[in-house]
Amino acid sequence: MKNYLSKYAIKYNNSEHIPSTPFTCGYCKNLIAPDLGYRISSSGQAGNQITRALIYMCPYCKNPSIYYLDEKEVVPGSFFGREVKGLPENIQTLYDECRINYSNKCYTSSQMIARTLLMHIAVEQGAKEGETFAKYIDYLNTSGFIPPNGKKWVDFIRKSGNVANHEIIIKEKEETEKVITFLSSLLLFIYELPNEMSVDEKS
Ligand SMILES: [Zn+2]
Repeated sequence: MKNYLSKYAIKYNNSEHIPSTPFTCGYCKNLIAPDLGYRISSSGQAGNQITRALIYMCPYCKNPSIYYLDEKEVVPGSFFGREVKGLPENIQTLYDECRINYSNKCYTSSQMIARTLLMHIAVEQGAKEGETFAKYIDYLNTSGFIPPNGKKWVDFIRKSGNVANHEIIIKEKEETEKVITFLSSLLLFIYELPNEMSVDEKS
């Protein structure tokens, strides 16, 4: 999640001490347990105030996160998938968007971006343009980009993307995690590792 407040000296006016909750900040990815922020409450049946959510200030990046007490969920949530170094700028932008969508529980759009990236990688690595998603995954497989014993992964990813463009299929969390894991491994092998090696060679 972009750090929108980094350019300001932030103050949380009239904030109070609230019960602390440990979570990973969706902006700066630090593990935090803040206790400063605001309560969001509503009236209970007896007219008493019931706290429904807490707004926390991250002590590192100062951005606000909302913790919903009934659901025990923090928004923005934490990213899924590893950080990959050495990505070209356009791939980095889309990969970040894919992970941000995941953290905001937009699993369908997260997977759509992941599939777009997988197809882009295949074309960049020599596949023909205008093929089906399954063909691109086959190409990556037969061209040696999938590690040994990766057949189950290939079958799973092929199946997950095997929908026509006009079909609407809502994607779930678990499948999205698998697609991002697959994508991040490919990004690691294709961009990060070769770059690391060429840095060593120069020195
Ligand atoms: Zn933070």
